[in-house]
Amino acid sequence: MFPQFTDVLIVGAGPTGLALAVALQQAGVDHVLVDKLPSGQNTSRAAVIHAHTLETMEKLGVVDELTRRGLSLIRFALRDRDRTLLNLRFDQLPSRHAKILMLPQDETEAVLQERLLELGGSVHWNATVSSVERNGDGYTAWLATSEGERAVQARFVVGADGMHSIVRQSAGIAFEGETYAGSFVLADVMMDWSVGSEEVSLFFSPSGMAVVAPLPHDRYRVVATMENAPEQPDIADIQSILASRGPSDGRTKVREVLWSSRFRLHHRVASAYRNEGMLLMGDAAHVHSPAGGQGMNTGLVDAMVLGDVLTRVVRDGKPETELGRYEALRRPAAVEVLAMADRLTGLAMIQGGFRRSVRNVALGALDRIGPLKRKLELDLSGLSRKAYSKL
Ligand SMILES: Cc1cc2nc3c(=O)[nH]c(=O)nc-3n(C[C@H](O)[C@H](O)[C@H](O)COP(=O)(O)OP(=O)(O)OC[C@H]3O[C@@H](n4cnc5c(N)ncnc54)[C@H](O)[C@@H]3O)c2cc1C
Repeated sequence: MFPQFTDVLIVGAGPTGLALAVALQQAGVDHVLVDKLPSGQNTSRAAVIHAHTLETMEKLGVVDELTRRGLSLIRFALRDRDRTLLNLRFDQLPSRHAKILMLPQDETEAVLQERLLELGGSVHWNATVSSVERNGDGYTAWLATSEGERAVQARFVVGADGMHSIVRQSAGIAFEGETYAGSFVLADVMMDWSVGSEEVSLFFSPSGMAVVAPLPHDRYRVVATMENAPEQPDIADIQSILASRGPSDGRTKVREVLWSSRFRLHHRVASAYRNEGMLLMGDAAHVHSPAGGQGMNTGLVDAMVLGDVLTRVVRDGKPETELGRYEALRRPAAVEVLAMADRLTGLAMIQGGFRRSVRNVALGALDRIGPLKRKLELDLSGLSRKAYSKL
């Protein structure tokens, strides 16, 4: 039987919806988690989990398993082909998790889902929310399910339903920003790669940018700009990108594309994170360039903060005004992340020999100025935004 009543309806069982469900399940807060897919996603998308995210997720009891499945790295380099412009290190971070953890998003979701089931929670797959209406003290959500149309009555509705969020639309909240011209490709590959498997590299090149990040099981994630990208880039596409933007030693050989996709770049933040009892988190609230690998990380921290706020209100009987704390903390965090991702993307895509030389000289200087480097490391790890997760 599909549940008819709940305190918290979570729409979307991506990483943020799953993390919130685990937090609420642990706190004993009644909730229902639904997703329109027939089962969990199998797309790799986000590949990195940063130190601050790992810290905030400790209380979910998933960090050991994520760490066991992932690849722990400490180096991130900005390069112009063979020349290293800036070397960042994450092993000196002021954190119990001084590293970057590489793990494909579907694995992160699998770990969260396993934890939810272990705690006695569940996901209602095949359940698509078509609208959410205000109704007395709460909300009615209409869903198309495998059992037919169903209505769920909830006190609070959380939109964890991604960029095209139906919850955001039902709440009448604007998604302000823009969509960039051009497209990106994303591929998980097996290849010969002379840089090795201990460094995440961001290559700047006149023909576009390319990120190469090692993943567990000898795989690499490649993310790159590409004009007129095909729907599923193949070996030749990735080989040609890396041959023209990566090391010039001729030793790069892409042997297999395990999964690939193309996507457009958006840069948007919701004008509000809340309209009374309807709340937004993750990509429903903010989307931006993947440069710096921040999207899922910011969303997971949203989920942890919202979990604490909803626990206070639903379980501990605190006034609903507490919900305002969530927006007050998390929207500024997203605005900072958007600005950082935008800066990194802009730097990577600078055109013209003179402007590129100036950029390279500036980054070379930054590499020698310790405090500025530390600041960038803290920004990327999320630790500089710790204050935005403290209730
Ligand atoms: C190419 C690419 C690379 C990226 N790389 C990184 C990276 O390296 N690091 C990083 O941190 N982030 C990265 N991101 C961003 C990251 O993938 C997202 O931030 C993350 O998936 C957001 O999680 P979410 O739970 O908010 O939303 P989603 O993952 O989009 O999940 C939303 C869920 O809601 C469900 N849903 C939608 N509508 C409905 C409905 N009406 N009813 C029921 N269910 C619904 C969907 O089926 C889906 O399961 C990348 C994104 C892309 C596209």
